[in-house]
Amino acid sequence: MTTKKRIVSIVAPFYNESDGIDHFHQAIREIINAIPEFDFEIICVDDGSSDDTLKKLVALVARDSCFRAVELSRNFGKEAALTAGIDSAIGHAVIPIDADLQDPPELIHLLIAEWEKGAEIVLARRVDRSSDTFLKRKTAELFYRIHNRLTHIKIPENVGDFRLMDRVAVDVLKALPERQRFMKGLFAWVGFKTAVVDYTRNPRTVGNTKFSGWKLWNFALEGITSFSTAPLKLMTYVGAGGTAITLCYALYIVFRTLIHGIDVPGYASLLVAILFFGSLQLLGIGILGEYIGRIYMESKQRPIYVIRKHHGHAEDVAGETSLDAQAYG
Ligand code: UDP
Ligand code: MG
Repeated sequence: MTTKKRIVSIVAPFYNESDGIDHFHQAIREIINAIPEFDFEIICVDDGSSDDTLKKLVALVARDSCFRAVELSRNFGKEAALTAGIDSAIGHAVIPIDADLQDPPELIHLLIAEWEKGAEIVLARRVDRSSDTFLKRKTAELFYRIHNRLTHIKIPENVGDFRLMDRVAVDVLKALPERQRFMKGLFAWVGFKTAVVDYTRNPRTVGNTKFSGWKLWNFALEGITSFSTAPLKLMTYVGAGGTAITLCYALYIVFRTLIHGIDVPGYASLLVAILFFGSLQLLGIGILGEYIGRIYMESKQRPIYVIRKHHGHAEDVAGETSLDAQAYG
């Protein structure tokens, strides 16, 4: 083997993707065979699947030496699984890709071509999302609009995790200490010279999406709260506005009482005011809670993921955590 070749790491998270593994292998094999100028390592992260995904991945690793598998100790979620894979990647460039082939592997050579031209990040942008449902497209659009208005870190629209990152960017990404990893935001945060490649998103080859509406909602909340404190500020202004209005109303009532005498009816306005400010306070506390909850989670300093075993790797380390990975990796 020539050692001069540069290495490209492809990282794919697998959660109950058993039926798709052979497709994935075939598609990726074809691509890497077509790009002999680089060495490839394909890191398949088993995110605590409950079907036989792990068994199939281990068999695949035994068959094809370009593939390795990282076995997490339970389901940690896609963001954590991706982080685990990226942490263990040794390539000069790293490409995260979905295991369900919704990110077309044919694009990999275009990503690499842009990288060779000097880009440190190459984004793959979906120009056509017609394979997603109408609702998903619209809510995604709304999310990007709100997020990008609230924060200084602009997440490029219609760009998923599928991209190429040069080692310099990967190292910065790995050094970010936060536990709650909103990858899209973190990817955008690191910056660097960026190029874009357009593509059409495929429908899933097999199986179903692992993201329900509720999961996506929480994902969106995560995105906004981890990159912006605007909701907190908003509460200050709403509170200040409410106080000003209340003050005017109070003055009005005092003068009216002074001029017209005591006026007992007023039950309706009283109740409306109490309910209005009561619910405003609850809303404010709720927003505070979102942030405090995140401070709490971060303060525990728990590892982002726990690795049970590396498969197809020289140094098999059992029970490694992301803390070890950060300290010794
Ligand atoms: N995934 C994961 N852990 C999870 C959920 C999903 O590793 O808890 C992986 C999944 O196997 C797939 C990728 O994340 O490779 C994207 O998931 P999916 O296709 O369900 O999401 P969608 O494309 O519908 O957004
Ligand atoms: Mg998918």
